[in-house]
Amino acid sequence: MSGAEPAGDARQSTHGSGPRHTTDSSDPSQPTPHAAVAENVRVPVKPHSGRPRIGIMGGTFDPIHHGHLVAASEVQHTFGLDEVVFVPTGRHPFKRDQKVTLPEHRYLMTVIATASNSRFSVSRVDIEREGTTYTIDTLRDLRRVYPDAEFYFITGADVLPDILRWKDSDELWTMAHFIGVTRPGHRLATTGLPPEGITLLEVPAMAISSTDCRKRVAAGAPIWYLVPDGVVQYIAKYRLYRNDMPISQEASNGASRVGKEQG
Ligand code: ATP
Ligand code: MG
Repeated sequence: MSGAEPAGDARQSTHGSGPRHTTDSSDPSQPTPHAAVAENVRVPVKPHSGRPRIGIMGGTFDPIHHGHLVAASEVQHTFGLDEVVFVPTGRHPFKRDQKVTLPEHRYLMTVIATASNSRFSVSRVDIEREGTTYTIDTLRDLRRVYPDAEFYFITGADVLPDILRWKDSDELWTMAHFIGVTRPGHRLATTGLPPEGITLLEVPAMAISSTDCRKRVAAGAPIWYLVPDGVVQYIAKYRLYRNDMPISQEASNGASRVGKEQG
């Protein structure tokens, strides 16, 4: 994997056969239940095709927090997902100047945070792939692991318009349905996005961010109840996010495999 993120375009993709999501809420004959979505996008939940439904939650997870976990849990419940795979990122093409904690720490915190949920798992595909990682590569790698699955890619709704800039964005729509998690009342600018490939889902706990958690640790403020207890203890044990953190605990984003397009 190499090269800068190519600019996407606004072309809309068509999907394979079978019923697809739609933003048209005006059809009163629509019998299927509706996800709780933002007011400008109302989407019927698809009938189950019988294929495994796998959610994919990509993120830097530096650290993972309850916002991520609540979002994954809500999407799992709403869409009847068999499993949600958390995928800590490698190198982020849009965050190259930022310091990001070593992938192994972020991976282990994600394992600790998800261990108690039998429907949650963690994948190493992004942290083990050389070079900058992109969502299209994540989906291709996971397709090999789950050849028959329907993919539901979970991301913050604010990030959705950026997908047009992601690598091979046209193909992305054919590989996964995108779930944009959002806070109540959020309105999504859908210009250029294929509406049949996206669902917005309102979730609580959206105010929590990894950035705030890192700042709190650096300032000596508590992060109890913002992240799982085991993650609080892991951060303390390895002295992550402290101003006196040994240089070996963090990696320059330009020198390691950190991040991907979103998050
Ligand atoms: P940072 O503050 O460092 O950007 P973050 O809190 O946004 O971190 P990421 O690891 O970057 O966390 O996010 C992974 C994914 O989770 C992204 O799609 C992001 O939009 C989403 N996300 C982040 N915070 C929340 C939250 N509180 N609730 C739901 N989804 C979230
Ligand atoms: Mg983020």
